[in-house]
Amino acid sequence: WAKDRGKATFAHYEPGLHALALERLAIRGELQHAIRDNEFVLHFQPTVDLRTETITGFEALVRWQHPTRGLLAPQAFISIAEQSGLIVELGHWVLREACFAAVGLQTALHQPTMSVNVAAQQIVQADFVDWVVAALEDSGLAPRHLVLEITESVLLDDMAGAVERLAVLRDLGVHVAIDDFGTGYSSLAYLSRLPVDILKVDKTFVDNVCDGREGASVTEAIIAMSRTMQLTTVAEGVELPEQAAWLKEAACTMGQGYLWSRPVDLARAHHLMRAGVPRQRVRAEAQPRHA
Ligand code: C2E
Ligand code: MG
Ligand code: MG
Ligand code: MG
Repeated sequence: WAKDRGKATFAHYEPGLHALALERLAIRGELQHAIRDNEFVLHFQPTVDLRTETITGFEALVRWQHPTRGLLAPQAFISIAEQSGLIVELGHWVLREACFAAVGLQTALHQPTMSVNVAAQQIVQADFVDWVVAALEDSGLAPRHLVLEITESVLLDDMAGAVERLAVLRDLGVHVAIDDFGTGYSSLAYLSRLPVDILKVDKTFVDNVCDGREGASVTEAIIAMSRTMQLTTVAEGVELPEQAAWLKEAACTMGQGYLWSRPVDLARAHHLMRAGVPRQRVRAEAQPRHA
């Protein structure tokens, strides 16, 4: 601990922390113009049916094409956007953009689902349902092709009618997924009363399914729970063929991860749709540009 080692060490840390705080402050200021200046882009990562390894849909993941800092990952700005409330405006942009992209990705034979990450602050807005409905109507995307990804905390707190709002959307046909599942505290009894269709098993468990560690038992429990409640299970962050094989054997429904494809830009997502999926091809095409 810096303090215990005397003033010199402590002083050594200070400029670093200070620079970090300044950087966050700068990003916060820049975020306000970034939406207006159209600096955000969506990348899309496919979800696959584990039995056939064909594409079932995509998850929209936001990036910031920053004029001087380069292409920024969500980690660099989402929490700042949440703290400043800008996440609401950014989230609306993502939702609309993703709905339009989803319609564009549809072919005569396949209509991929589009999953959109939704922050708690968005669902708290009284007009959240209206926003979603407007995005669907304006883009022409059928509600059953949209998946809203939320985290367990949104449901546990039942923030300002979040559960009711999601239930309304679900009645319209929109699907609801719980992201990073297993990292929160939902009980089976509680979960059965929530408006949810999909559980996304967090990467931290998927990482360990083949190691004989707790990842395997937790993942098995989530899959069993999903089946009882007739939910779909998506394994997040699948990187190795052994993990995919284990998950398929365990009757997990779907997978998502670098094994099949990294998140790609819209043009490449179109390419993946046309290819249908052969895993080797997807990997060969998708990895170099986003490594
Ligand atoms: P998430 O929703 O759990 O998304 C999955 C994250 O895991 C993505 O990171 C994805 O690129 C990464 N990932 C997928 N497969 C693999 C894999 O095989 N290995 C590894 N190491 N990583 C993998 P990304 O794009 O950096 O997004 C991080 C988080 O930022 C997301 O986690 C989500 O919570 C948040 N986020 C992204 N876009 C949005 C958005 O539009 N709105 C909001 N509110 N949050 C967003
Ligand atoms: Mg997600
Ligand atoms: Mg996740
Ligand atoms: Mg995650």
